[in-house]
Amino acid sequence: MLVKAGAGTCGGKLTLVDLDHLLPQNIGRHRLGFPDLLSNKAEAMAKELKRLAPSADIRALPVDVRQAKLGEVDLLIDATGEESLGHWMCGHYPSPTPMLSVWIEGPGTAVRALLRTNASGACCRCLWHSNSRGELRSTLTPLSVILAGHGCEGLYVPFPASVSVHAASLGAEMALDWANGVYSPALRTRLIDRTQQLATPDCDPPRDQECPICNS
Ligand SMILES: [Zn+2]
Repeated sequence: MLVKAGAGTCGGKLTLVDLDHLLPQNIGRHRLGFPDLLSNKAEAMAKELKRLAPSADIRALPVDVRQAKLGEVDLLIDATGEESLGHWMCGHYPSPTPMLSVWIEGPGTAVRALLRTNASGACCRCLWHSNSRGELRSTLTPLSVILAGHGCEGLYVPFPASVSVHAASLGAEMALDWANGVYSPALRTRLIDRTQQLATPDCDPPRDQECPICNS
């Protein structure tokens, strides 16, 4: 979606960072499919995107993002869904580097995204502190935890590919808004599970007093 919107063109560069390899359990939801099985995800995605948009400048970094030398970035997008890694990225690429985090809540209950564009707005670690006090949550009732497989849940996926596409769409929408100078609302939630009720309308949360990244 980003490449279709122009990422990597007109002098821009799109860098994909992923240490992971495409495994059978990824096939059901990943943009890539069987032909790229066991390939590095960043390299295979770059190859696929260049096939679809040959003029786009796309670079693959098949490394841990903590080792990646990204240099100056215009917009850093964290779509890993790994909370602790997101917190590391927030701290390592502090404001004024714009950072967009996008993730899936619980077992596909909702998708959310947070754009941090200045030091007075919340970062993803701020949101974690607010959530732990019961504030700024996505749903009124706590997110359910689905445990299955008794330790062999590697192949078990609690939500379908459509939820991943919702998350990607929200991320692309906010990246396009950022490119157009629209930074609000910085926190957006799209409820997927219609049996749940939305707890937090789209808003601009300020930084959290407990956040060690924003208050250091
Ligand atoms: Zn913070």
